[in-house]
Amino acid sequence: MKTDIEIALEADMLPIGDIASQLSLTAEDFEPYGHYKAKLSDNLLDKLSSRSEGKVILTTSINPTSAGEGKSTVTVGLGQALNRLNKHAIIALREPSLGPTMGIKGGAAGGGYSQVVPMQEINLHFTGDIHAITTANNALSAFIDNHIHHGNELQIDPRRVEWKRVLDINDRALRQVNVGLGGPAKGVPREDGFNITVASEIMAVLCLANDLQDLKARLARIVIGYTYDKEPVTVHQLGFEGALTLLLKDAFKPNLVQTLENTPAIIHGGPFANIAHGCNSVMATKIAAKLGDYVVTEAGFGADLGAEKFLDIKTRAGYFEPDTVVIVATIRALKLHGGVNRNQLTKEDLDALKQGMTNLKKHIETIDQFNLPYVVAINKFPTDTEEEINFLKDWCKQEGAEVALVDVFSQGGEGGIELAQKVIESCEKKTGALSYTYDLDDSIEEKIYKIVTKVYGGERVEFSSAAKKQLKQLEREGHHKLPICMAKTQYSLSDDPALLGRPEGFTVTVRELRASVGAGFIVALTGDVMTMPGLPKKPAALNMDVTEDGVITGLF
Ligand code: ADP
Repeated sequence: MKTDIEIALEADMLPIGDIASQLSLTAEDFEPYGHYKAKLSDNLLDKLSSRSEGKVILTTSINPTSAGEGKSTVTVGLGQALNRLNKHAIIALREPSLGPTMGIKGGAAGGGYSQVVPMQEINLHFTGDIHAITTANNALSAFIDNHIHHGNELQIDPRRVEWKRVLDINDRALRQVNVGLGGPAKGVPREDGFNITVASEIMAVLCLANDLQDLKARLARIVIGYTYDKEPVTVHQLGFEGALTLLLKDAFKPNLVQTLENTPAIIHGGPFANIAHGCNSVMATKIAAKLGDYVVTEAGFGADLGAEKFLDIKTRAGYFEPDTVVIVATIRALKLHGGVNRNQLTKEDLDALKQGMTNLKKHIETIDQFNLPYVVAINKFPTDTEEEINFLKDWCKQEGAEVALVDVFSQGGEGGIELAQKVIESCEKKTGALSYTYDLDDSIEEKIYKIVTKVYGGERVEFSSAAKKQLKQLEREGHHKLPICMAKTQYSLSDDPALLGRPEGFTVTVRELRASVGAGFIVALTGDVMTMPGLPKKPAALNMDVTEDGVITGLF
């Protein structure tokens, strides 16, 4: 089979104006950005306010392997399949970060015959949104250092500045840096560090804001650090929310593109799925729901992280609910959960598959607890055997779970017809309101305990002494009613990446609590969650090239 980039470069793309016309958009509703991309106007949602909403389908997965289990691929393929069934479907996805693109995981524009295009642009600089977020984030750093340099009226303690600089590349050498060195003319020396841009609170703010006013209000609330008296200092006190909003004005407009089969796709925002909530912007999902009969959207990592945060954070911020959930499972990941060695996953192993089903079972129970219907999508890989596929299908039937075999990677939308039909039926099965994991009025400890016991299947939560202090501080500052954003390994239901399958009786240790007041959540950090990843010994970037005649190679 051809590589992703070979397939993408052969795509028969329609001019973006044609895609906009499919959605009945008029000339003032979008701004072409080259031939195949457009920015949607930021008052579009207002304009569409009287329209009814289409069904929202959330794609999530079991705990993945490091290669990913195909959520983006299935999301794109399902959108294409729905369109083949003559439904008006729109896909809403995150914008890829250059960190994983250049690093190990690869892009985030789907794969095979289920991709969003132009994939080479989407995976690289796209419409510059991530650059704008980098600039806004670093402008704030410069404003903070400048304030301290020019007399420090707010009495910001340079040792307690929590706002870090960002860069959209994995660069471990920048995790900790000293700034302001070189004498009085060069500023006030202090320790700083870099995060990857998608971990910036500004990314989460952009993704959770409902309109430009909300964006500005959230930016104003960001806490950048503390004074010598340990009082929080906000962007509003510094007076820069206007300038930051200005820098983000265009990045805040969702981007319209298409899939290989010309299905419309809105790609906007890409917050990290650990330190942030890991799904595309509220604006993108809501506009898509107004424009289509069905929106297929995705949340990062497995259902324990991505879906939980989509449902407990994003839907609350955006005042909407999904209608059904697609749980992507692969035979290779289930075998990994069943104890098979990572390099033996391509060999048939029914026993391991059987053992590994506990992981899928837990995620099914979790979606049930949210009171949402679901369909299990088996993302078919060439190495899956018929016996393995039949086993998985039979298991689902015995559990009473709707299941569909999906081959959208090699067949495009055609390979997702069965899933699309089941998803359409599933959307009609939703009864009653979404049942959140916790109430916002619960204490911070209670909220975390409910996530750990109900969603992870753990037994206890321990707080480090630092986290206990932070807990008191957050309560004192009045932030205890915010939802919780868990930062945890994606590989295990627990906080230990080595505990695969369905671990039980475990304790989750919260080592740090941080308020992202602008985004509107409290981050609970467990394990070794990194906010500036490093590159592997042989980064994916080593394979990338552009030939003499401008042809891109090696972009997966
Ligand atoms: P996720 O969104 O879960 O992280 P992706 O959709 O990005 O996963 O897929 C991860 C990688 O696996 C991509 O390189 C994609 O092209 C590839 N992939 C996905 N599904 C299949 C499949 N069925 N067969 C082969 N490769 C696949």
